[in-house]
Amino acid sequence: PVVTRFAPSPTGFLHIGGARTALFNWLFARHHGGKFLLRIEDTDRARSTDDAIEAILDGMKWLALDWDDETVYQFARAARHAEVANALLDAGHAYRCYATPEELTALREQQRAAKQPMRYDGRWRDRDSSEAPEGAPFVIRLKAPRDGETVIEDRVQGRVVVQNSELDDMILLRSDGTPTYMLAVVVDDHDMGVTHVIRGDDHLNNAFRQLGIIHAMGWAEPVYAHIPLIHGADGAKLSKRHGALGVDAYRDEMGLLPEAVSNYLLRLGWGHGDDEIISREQAVEWFDLAGVGRSPSRFDLKKLENLNGHYIREADDARLADLVAPRVETRLGRTLDTEARALLAAAMASLKPRAKNLDEIAEGALFLFETRPLTLDEKAATLLEGGAATLLAQAGAILETVADWSVPALEAALRQVAEDAGTGLGKVAQPLRAALTGRSTSPGIFDVLVLLGKEESLARIAERAA
Ligand code: GLU
Repeated sequence: PVVTRFAPSPTGFLHIGGARTALFNWLFARHHGGKFLLRIEDTDRARSTDDAIEAILDGMKWLALDWDDETVYQFARAARHAEVANALLDAGHAYRCYATPEELTALREQQRAAKQPMRYDGRWRDRDSSEAPEGAPFVIRLKAPRDGETVIEDRVQGRVVVQNSELDDMILLRSDGTPTYMLAVVVDDHDMGVTHVIRGDDHLNNAFRQLGIIHAMGWAEPVYAHIPLIHGADGAKLSKRHGALGVDAYRDEMGLLPEAVSNYLLRLGWGHGDDEIISREQAVEWFDLAGVGRSPSRFDLKKLENLNGHYIREADDARLADLVAPRVETRLGRTLDTEARALLAAAMASLKPRAKNLDEIAEGALFLFETRPLTLDEKAATLLEGGAATLLAQAGAILETVADWSVPALEAALRQVAEDAGTGLGKVAQPLRAALTGRSTSPGIFDVLVLLGKEESLARIAERAA
């Protein structure tokens, strides 16, 4: 059975690259009917924070990436990691190294001066602990093979080979008894039964070292799939400047829907023909490691926004209204009552066709809740100049007589106004829109009238009529 995991370090927000790694692991597990596990790698005590853990869990829930079993916290497993280091020691696959920090610094200086690669030289590999001073501190190092090569048949990168002579005897357990990251990852993956390690290709080099531990323990190798990192539109490694924000910023600041972000992340590095819009169900059915590209993918905000526009149009109106309401409330500086919430939901059908994010919908909805006298934006003010006041007076008079306040009746009425004024419908709609919304753009004029209702519409028109 397939077991994958997402193993974030809680030292910052859940960024877009991490979210994509989580998604790929989730999809792979679900595709194979296996398990997807979550491990919080909180061994860096100085940099790990509860807020970051919260942000990770939150982001995964938002993206509907549910995980199986209990969340594993790596730090809590330190005793188990030490146990494995000691087992390797007992089996002769590891040794105690008593080299002092000064000694190691001197070694590095020497190597630097000689332009040699800087690595530990194995000076305690064949020495006995009895040669060390009484009670001297030591680390436990892996006795890595020096001959031959280590091969990874990576599902994304292909066959990657490293000469064992290039790998030094890495530390497994520090002198204070705490495990290193390399040891912890291997032990946890093994104990959690992880069969497929899918992660960023910045971890490819680590994989060779991790295999050293795996081989020494005689454990089964996992399948590796190292995914190319995400780059910005300019080809440089993704940074904050490119929109490498936390997932929470995509939700809160950018007003994106989780299904849009998820669809976008899927396409960022994985492809299925030319398909752009791929539902979660479809993704579970199609996802495979063969579809993961080998070159870095480029983050494209425009594409993400377009996808979001698509999913907004698909989204249920009541759900959208719930998501948009707080954004409207913030802008208005007051809460919406039940009636206002219902109006917002009713307006969704006319607001969502052109919106790319939730903020655009909120902006578009504001006119519904603003109170008279409406503030006019610059273009609306211009539209109300000249003969507009007279035209609005005529429109007001005719609309007054409309009993059935529905789109067809309103359309007939406004055509009448235009005809009487010897002009086109558009010429009537423009000042009307300005008077009704305070803006030069809005949903269709008939929708605006219907949403505002007869009384409020006539009051807004009267205010600008002469
Ligand atoms: N904790 C590591 C990170 O956040 C990932 C380790 C792994 O996937 O093996 O980059």
